[in-house]
Amino acid sequence: MSAVLTQYPLSERLNALSESETLAMTKKARELAAQGHKVISLSVGEPDFQTPQHIKDAAKKAIDDGYTFYSPVPGYPELRSAIADKLKRENQLDVTAENIVVSTGAKQSIVNVLLSLIGRGDEVIIFAPYWVSYVEMVKLAEGTPVVISGTIENDFKVTAAQVEKAITPKTKAILFSSPCNPTGSVFSKEELIEIANVVAKYDNIFIIADEIYEYINFEGSHFSIGSLPQVKDKTITVNGFSKGYAMTGWRVGYIAAPKWIAAACDKVQGQVTSGTCSIAQKAAYAAITGDLTAAKEMTAAYKRRRDLVLDLIKQIPGLKANKPQGAFYIFPDVSAYLGKTFNGNKIEKASDLAMYLLNEAHVSCVGGDAFGAPNNIRISFAASDENLKEALHRIKEALIKLS
Ligand code: PMP
Ligand code: GLU
Repeated sequence: MSAVLTQYPLSERLNALSESETLAMTKKARELAAQGHKVISLSVGEPDFQTPQHIKDAAKKAIDDGYTFYSPVPGYPELRSAIADKLKRENQLDVTAENIVVSTGAKQSIVNVLLSLIGRGDEVIIFAPYWVSYVEMVKLAEGTPVVISGTIENDFKVTAAQVEKAITPKTKAILFSSPCNPTGSVFSKEELIEIANVVAKYDNIFIIADEIYEYINFEGSHFSIGSLPQVKDKTITVNGFSKGYAMTGWRVGYIAAPKWIAAACDKVQGQVTSGTCSIAQKAAYAAITGDLTAAKEMTAAYKRRRDLVLDLIKQIPGLKANKPQGAFYIFPDVSAYLGKTFNGNKIEKASDLAMYLLNEAHVSCVGGDAFGAPNNIRISFAASDENLKEALHRIKEALIKLS
């Protein structure tokens, strides 16, 4: 793809950018399905549930009530206040509406923060396995991604000691998700305190804590690093509506940040989108002020599917998986199958294996290379039990064919 693009006078910035692998695999799965194949798509991370009815109703009402104009750039004041209330109540963050900026998805929220904070050559420490877009977003901001990796033995989590070792005079931020996409790992309060204690020692290092999977937590309660006094003035908490409320298409995310960072993100956004969709914001308000019954039911379903998928993966020779504690991904190590061949084609990397599984088994997942973990593949279990059983069966049959 980039070989073709570089024939044209695109910017250096664009030429250095990789395509989102989650979205690329999903596009390929859609293309195969359009050709009539029965493809099971486990590549894109999105709830397979509909948005709860009371949220949809609020959007319909917003249209009828005439919310068809630009909203204030950082979001409607009542939505920002409701988000601040939620963060105070559930996450113990010390925030008011002025700390909140609502954006077109958590994806844009993170880009706003990086464009506001990161300059050429500033280093951002990214915990691997990481969500595909982090590295590319840092590159867009002309920063330098510095990747540190967790091991499967430590449930893929990096340690505070690793963070400390990676810090240089150029370090400007650390960036990670918990619950983690793609591993499902969740940092404990104790682990976050240790990381916070390291960051607190440095004046100009910020924490970008992506908590978008907060509600999809199977084992314990969520802890927000931004609630710790030693880092409260240097933490940007990112969250949104896509995952917990099954609202991916509505495109609403937000940050809670020190006021000067929120103001900077407001400024960026004012030149880029003028704020997110008025109707989607009204829906988000209904979501955040409504009860969490639907979110809890969805999480219970993901937990059941996590157990199902884990069990099925154990029955596939050579695969090793950790037990995800949150989100809706499982990230098995597939190294036993790397280096094998099919019809004379060598499977060198996890992304080759993901492509092989798509072509042979018609199951789409994503190679771990894009997540900074080349021995793994990411399988989303936000799909029906029936599709998950069928997909894992097909994956097993396809892997057995490799020699
Ligand atoms: N962070 C993580 C870790 C994600 O998996 C996603 C999913 N797309 C996002 C941020 C962005 O979410 P959205 O833009 O849909 O709010
Ligand atoms: N966060 C989801 C994923 O990881 C959605 C696609 C994307 O934005 O990357 O699959």
